[in-house]
Amino acid sequence: MSDKLNELKIRLAEVDDLSSAAAVLGWDQQTYMPAGGAEARGRQMATLQRLAHEKFTDEQIGYLLEELQQAGADWAYDSDEAALLRVTQRQYTQAIRIPSDFVAEVASHGAAAFNAWTTARPANDFAAVRPLLEKTLELSLRYASYFPGHAEPIDPFIDNADHGMNAATVGALFDQLRAALVPLVQAIGAQPLADDEVLRRGYPEAAQIAFGEEMARQLGYDFSRGRQDKTYHPFATKFSINDVRITTRLDEHFLNEGLFGTIHEVGHAMYEQGVAQALEATPLASGTSAGVHESQSRLWENLVGRSRRFWEHFFPVLQAAFPTQLNDVSLDTFYRAINRVEPSLIRVEADEVTYNLHVMLRFDLERALLKGELAVADLPAAWNGRMESDLGLTPPDDRHGVLQDVHWFDGLLGGGFQGYTLGNVMSAQFFAAAQTAHPEIPDQIRGGSFDTLRGWLTENIYRHGMKFTARELVERATGSPLTIEPYMAYLRHKYGELYGL
Ligand code: ZN
Repeated sequence: MSDKLNELKIRLAEVDDLSSAAAVLGWDQQTYMPAGGAEARGRQMATLQRLAHEKFTDEQIGYLLEELQQAGADWAYDSDEAALLRVTQRQYTQAIRIPSDFVAEVASHGAAAFNAWTTARPANDFAAVRPLLEKTLELSLRYASYFPGHAEPIDPFIDNADHGMNAATVGALFDQLRAALVPLVQAIGAQPLADDEVLRRGYPEAAQIAFGEEMARQLGYDFSRGRQDKTYHPFATKFSINDVRITTRLDEHFLNEGLFGTIHEVGHAMYEQGVAQALEATPLASGTSAGVHESQSRLWENLVGRSRRFWEHFFPVLQAAFPTQLNDVSLDTFYRAINRVEPSLIRVEADEVTYNLHVMLRFDLERALLKGELAVADLPAAWNGRMESDLGLTPPDDRHGVLQDVHWFDGLLGGGFQGYTLGNVMSAQFFAAAQTAHPEIPDQIRGGSFDTLRGWLTENIYRHGMKFTARELVERATGSPLTIEPYMAYLRHKYGELYGL
């Protein structure tokens, strides 16, 4: 039996090698590749992804899984072996439904769409990407057709990103959250706006990068197994548990972008760096779902990084890095500035309270596109209408509207957004559980020590990789099912205090 398990692992490692090589090309495309490389890069990525898909769907993998299922029936549910079989079987059953040619077509179309988007967005030219987006929608519907039996075409996409969920369950949670959030947004909106002038004083890029790296190091991001580069749309990516990279975008005229973008990607990267080494090069060696992944980036970005206690430690360091900009600023002024709540146009720059409204808008629009209730041509108007009704703002152009996110211009459309809000909800539930286990965590953060928190996260979340589903992980780590209560309690407490509600 161990021979068969070894053979399976060797085959899975080859698949992982090919996908990781494609990920390196993707990282290069978004950091250093000259524009002229786009066409060849699209072809190269398509080739690697097709080969990975062909190797993974080889019938020999099916036979091995079948034999191991019988032989390994007494493996404990929690064991690496049982989890490897469970997850590989799930992915295999899904992958064999998708033709390799389709995988290659999606990869090369994704590269073309991404390339067009990088010029269309700054040029504010929706018309230039519209045919590509129509093709994306067509490919997405074809993808959904490989999974008959779903209630809505978006369901297979949601299941991919957040296994075990669908449009109905996500929609129900979102309805509950929206009902709780809207009154809070309105109550804050009735108060005077916090002043964030101190964040807009001109912060040279090199010093921002140096501060960001220092902060990342102190939080626990391991630079001997990672690195940071600049990009247009920040992301974290993994080629191995021991090579997990982050990218960042800086704005010299708005400090939040670099500061919180860096902490956010560090949160994603520490999750991947924290996966148990025994899981390397298997399908288990990555975060378990979009929602849980985002819970880790948002936990560090918001519950830690936007807390007053975090800046009790880091604000003097930031002042030392930017003395002329910050020496006359108090911690309190800075804390209020970084937590300013104001309906805004750009999701990635939105505050914690309004952020989820941006996500729900995108979730509903992509759900409607896939259902055939909305045409691509009508998307910009639908976007703007919803911005008006939800946030009271009209985007001045598509650059500040429908063109802002990479998600619809990078492969298939669907399931790319709900994880952000699921992650916010989970982040508070995880953080509350960590604090219950270790009441000293807040004081440690105040002192610039993050080891206990990171240790709890490693023990309860990181090291498991994909062994458990999001639902299993939430219940194991916190002792209860996913609920919006800790998240709403966190927001009400923090913003109640900040805005005197
Ligand atoms: Zn993220």
